[in-house]
Amino acid sequence: MRTLYCACCGRPFHRTSPRGPAPLYCSADCRAQMQVRRRVWSAADRLVDRKADRRVRALPAPA
Ligand SMILES: [Zn+2]
Repeated sequence: MRTLYCACCGRPFHRTSPRGPAPLYCSADCRAQMQVRRRVWSAADRLVDRKADRRVRALPAPA
Protein backbone atom coordinates (compact mmCIF):
# COMPACT_ATOMS: atom_id res chain seq x y z
CA MET A 1 0.00 0.00 0.00
CA ARG A 2 1.24 3.42 -0.92
CA THR A 3 1.55 6.05 1.76
CA LEU A 4 0.22 9.48 0.85
CA TYR A 5 0.68 12.73 2.68
CA CYS A 6 -2.22 15.00 3.38
CA ALA A 7 -2.01 18.30 1.48
CA CYS A 8 -3.67 20.00 4.43
CA CYS A 9 -2.11 18.74 7.65
CA GLY A 10 0.83 16.77 6.19
CA ARG A 11 -0.08 13.59 8.06
CA PRO A 12 0.69 10.34 6.27
CA PHE A 13 -2.32 8.25 5.37
CA HIS A 14 -3.26 5.30 3.20
CA ARG A 15 -5.72 5.59 0.37
CA THR A 16 -8.74 3.46 1.02
CA SER A 17 -9.34 2.53 -2.62
CA PRO A 18 -6.77 1.87 -5.35
CA ARG A 19 -9.20 3.12 -7.98
CA GLY A 20 -9.68 6.70 -9.08
CA PRO A 21 -7.39 9.69 -8.55
CA ALA A 22 -5.24 9.70 -5.46
CA PRO A 23 -6.87 11.61 -2.63
CA LEU A 24 -5.07 14.72 -1.42
CA TYR A 25 -6.41 14.80 2.09
CA CYS A 26 -6.43 12.37 4.97
CA SER A 27 -10.01 13.13 5.92
CA ALA A 28 -13.14 15.00 4.92
CA ASP A 29 -12.24 17.47 7.67
CA CYS A 30 -9.01 18.37 5.92
CA ARG A 31 -10.77 18.66 2.57
CA ALA A 32 -13.27 21.10 4.08
CA GLN A 33 -10.44 22.96 5.76
CA MET A 34 -8.66 23.38 2.44
CA GLN A 35 -11.83 24.57 0.71
CA VAL A 36 -12.13 27.33 3.29
CA ARG A 37 -8.49 28.30 2.77
CA ARG A 38 -8.90 28.39 -1.01
CA ARG A 39 -11.92 30.64 -0.64
CA VAL A 40 -9.90 33.03 1.54
CA TRP A 41 -6.97 32.97 -0.88
CA SER A 42 -9.09 33.77 -3.92
CA ALA A 43 -10.82 36.55 -2.01
CA ALA A 44 -7.41 38.01 -1.14
CA ASP A 45 -6.32 37.70 -4.78
CA ARG A 46 -9.35 39.65 -5.93
CA LEU A 47 -8.57 42.33 -3.37
CA VAL A 48 -4.99 42.70 -4.65
CA ASP A 49 -6.27 42.86 -8.23
CA ARG A 50 -8.64 45.67 -7.35
CA LYS A 51 -5.86 47.63 -5.64
CA ALA A 52 -3.52 47.27 -8.64
CA ASP A 53 -6.35 48.37 -10.89
CA ARG A 54 -6.90 51.53 -8.91
CA ARG A 55 -3.18 52.34 -8.93
CA VAL A 56 -3.04 52.13 -12.74
CA ARG A 57 -6.08 54.33 -13.13
CA ALA A 58 -4.66 56.90 -10.68
CA LEU A 59 -1.62 57.54 -12.89
CA PRO A 60 -1.71 60.89 -14.68
CA ALA A 61 -2.50 60.71 -18.37
CA PRO A 62 0.52 61.30 -20.61
CA ALA A 63 0.59 64.90 -21.84
ZN1 LIG B 1 -5.10 15.99 6.83
